[in-house]
Amino acid sequence: MFIPVNEPIISQEAKDNLAEAINSGWISSAGKYLSEFETNFAKIYGVKHAIAVSNGTAALHVALLSLGIKAGDEIIVPAFTMAASWMAVLYTGAKPIFVDCELETYNIDPDKIEKKITAHTKAIMPVHIYGHPCEMNKIMNLAQKYKLMIIEDAAEAHGATYQGKLAGIFGDISCFSFYGNKIITTGEGGIIITNSDTLAEKCRKIKDLHHSAKRFVHDGIGYNYRLTNMQAAIGVGELKHLDEYVNKKLWIAKLYSELLVNIPGLKLPTTKTGVKNVFWMYAILIYPKKFGLSRDNLKIELKNRGVDTRDFFYSPSDQPVLKDIINAERFPNTELVASNGLYLPSGLTMTEEKIKFVCQQIKKIKLTK
Ligand SMILES: *Cc1c(COP(=O)(O)O)cnc(C)c1O
Repeated sequence: MFIPVNEPIISQEAKDNLAEAINSGWISSAGKYLSEFETNFAKIYGVKHAIAVSNGTAALHVALLSLGIKAGDEIIVPAFTMAASWMAVLYTGAKPIFVDCELETYNIDPDKIEKKITAHTKAIMPVHIYGHPCEMNKIMNLAQKYKLMIIEDAAEAHGATYQGKLAGIFGDISCFSFYGNKIITTGEGGIIITNSDTLAEKCRKIKDLHHSAKRFVHDGIGYNYRLTNMQAAIGVGELKHLDEYVNKKLWIAKLYSELLVNIPGLKLPTTKTGVKNVFWMYAILIYPKKFGLSRDNLKIELKNRGVDTRDFFYSPSDQPVLKDIINAERFPNTELVASNGLYLPSGLTMTEEKIKFVCQQIKKIKLTK
């Protein structure tokens, strides 16, 4: 048995739509599926605008530019996140200001944000790590107090809710990814949502070469970050299954948590009250002394037994490209979880048999230590 860390499911609707898009000849960045995908996504989130783009990183770049972020500005970002969150800030010339994570959820610690705010701070970028929503009340209060904008990175959190509201509707603007391992995929893809007409208009221009009202006359710098009609066709089909996919993720997490409960040295994911965690990935932390072996050794032993896993994101302190930006600053929680965390196979194709197999291997490995 070999169990990959992720395997996507592509629904029959998505396949049929894709064939239809190809057969229609509308294979590039115009076509009915693009507007349908944007409309359907906006409807689910109850927002005025959804702008499809080529990937989640591009979504963040465009969203930051639409907010007017530029060199000299500072953006508060989590120290524990996927690189795209802070890379997009670097693209604009602004400086990412890293804030350490909470140990409970691995999300940005809202109580550590305020002391990082300066006269140059323009926005906060909460990232809903592994599908667990951030403490949006505290973050929104800070944004209000200091007149900061919020850009949510909801790339891992399709369908997650905070106090009954979908993660992604709190920010001035929010971004999602449809990469192959995300809860909804279009192969590669991304989308930006906002209620602001002005921001939406800017995003549409920035993601497509900044044409002016007169097409092929350009009144600003834009990029080619367009999604194709083929990808949108897949998206339209997949979006119909959002609830089903989220429920599958919840089922996977519940089974893992039942089978891995009470193993000394393993921290299983927790969910704060008032939120719906969608468990994009089932992420565990290993306390090496109590568990009997390190994360890296557990990873190797699992691989030998046919179980693929992934390390957590690395800390900014371990990113050569950030050396001059973080100035030797340390992020104790992020560093701790980065070196001791891994996630287990969590793809939508997981079965009870596979989950049991993974858990049995972990228990067997633990027994031999
Ligand atoms: C996946 C991801 C992104 C980037 O999305 P891509 O579509 O891969 O460019 C951004 N932020 C987070 C938190 C992600 O997990």
